[in-house]
Amino acid sequence: MEEPKKDAITHLESYHLRPSTVLRYCKDYKVEAWFLPTMKHLVTTPWTAFTAHDIEIMGIDVFHLILILKGHVENAYKSIINNTYEEMVHVCGHQAECQAAFDAFLREITCRILHPDTPISHETAEKLLDEYAGDGFDPACFRQAVRDIKMRGFLREDRKILRDGFRDIADYFGYSRTLVPDVYW
Ligand SMILES: [Zn+2]
Repeated sequence: MEEPKKDAITHLESYHLRPSTVLRYCKDYKVEAWFLPTMKHLVTTPWTAFTAHDIEIMGIDVFHLILILKGHVENAYKSIINNTYEEMVHVCGHQAECQAAFDAFLREITCRILHPDTPISHETAEKLLDEYAGDGFDPACFRQAVRDIKMRGFLREDRKILRDGFRDIADYFGYSRTLVPDVYW
């Protein structure tokens, strides 16, 4: 990166600009390093926190892309909330109770992932699943379910949506899609 641009970036970073302004600079001046952190921030910003000024700064086209992405993530959250794991194969002889215990545990994890103030990470959520002791039911019932939930990325659906959505917006800004890494974060 040429020196004057680097100096300008360092200077601007000290100003604590609104994310909408940062995103605008990111688009106009191709400051790659700002893209992901700013996008992550904007996607988790509540709808009502966007001002008319933010929308003007970002551009209605970019704001629209962010709204679409927020909508997709919220839908993923809704499907997580509604989910129970009905494909569990029971060997315990107490199917209803065992299933209810596991679903209750899954709901608790979901609520913690979606907690507005202190959300847990998807990694922590999967670790909690691994540590689930089964409420006295046969481990053979839930071990397979836990493996399957992790393998299918059941609790990480929003991560995939975010990754693909960020890539689409990176593309729109003229960045390489590889700016958004393949791994979950
Ligand atoms: Zn069971």
